[in-house]
Amino acid sequence: MLKIEHLTKKYGKVYANNDISFEIPDGSITVLLGPNGAGKSTVIKSVIGFLKYDGIITVDGQYNKSPEAKRLLGYVPELPALYPNLTVGEHLEFVARAYRLKDYKDYKNELLERFELTDKVKKFGDELSKGMQQKLSICCALLPCPKVLLFDEPMIGLDPHAIKELKNLFIDMRSKGCSILISTHMIDSIDMLWDRTIIMQNGTVTANVTKEELDTSSQTLEELFFNTTEGEAL
Ligand code: ADP
Repeated sequence: MLKIEHLTKKYGKVYANNDISFEIPDGSITVLLGPNGAGKSTVIKSVIGFLKYDGIITVDGQYNKSPEAKRLLGYVPELPALYPNLTVGEHLEFVARAYRLKDYKDYKNELLERFELTDKVKKFGDELSKGMQQKLSICCALLPCPKVLLFDEPMIGLDPHAIKELKNLFIDMRSKGCSILISTHMIDSIDMLWDRTIIMQNGTVTANVTKEELDTSSQTLEELFFNTTEGEAL
C-alpha cells in the first residue's frame, strides 16, 4: 500500500503540492488527473524519492526513501531516461543485476514480446524511436515486479498496440496485488480501468472519487473534471 500524508512541496512561492493526502490500497489503480502544471509529476517524483518535501510518504509502512521501500517501487518517467551505450537487452540485464533478480528470463522475454521489442534487443537506447524508448522504460520498471508502480503520463508517444498492452498490464498488475498510480492530463486515455480518480489543480486536490461513487453520481468523469477545475461548484 502507498500512503501519502500532507505532502507539501514549494518551488519559491509556488505550491506545486499543497497538503495532499491519499492512499492506494493493494490491488488497486488510482489515476491522478489534472491540467498541465496541476502538480501531478511533483506527487510522483516525491513518492519515488527525487524531491525534498514536507509530509510523510510510506510504502507498505516503510519510509519511501528507505532501501526497503525503494525495492518495492517501480517508476516510469514521463520522458524515458535510457543509457545511450546499452542495448535493449543490456538495459534489462542491468536492471536484473541491480535488483539481484533470479529467474527473471521468462518474464523478461514476455515483456519484450508484449511490447514488440524482441527483434530490437541488440539496438542501442539512442537508436530507438521515442515510442520504443518508452516501451523499454516500461519493461525496465516492470522487470523487478515492484509492488507499487508509478506511471507519469505513460501513454504519450505509444502506438495503439503498446497502449493496449499497457492497459492489459495495469489490469494484470492490479490482480497481482500491486498499488498503481497513473498520472495523466488526458481524461479518455485510461478508460474506466481505475478504482479511484484524484483530480488536481494548482497543487491541490479538487475531487477524489471511487469508480462506484462516480457511477452512482449524475456526472461523467469529464463533467466532474471540468466542474472542479473550471470553477463551478459541485
Ligand atoms: P503536472 O505534472 O501536473 O504538469 P508539475 O508537478 O510538473 O505539474 O508542476 C506543478 C507546479 O510546479 C507547476 O507550477 C510547475 O511550474 C512547478 N514546478 C515543477 N517543477 C519545478 C521546478 N523544478 N522548478 C520550479 N517550479 C517547478
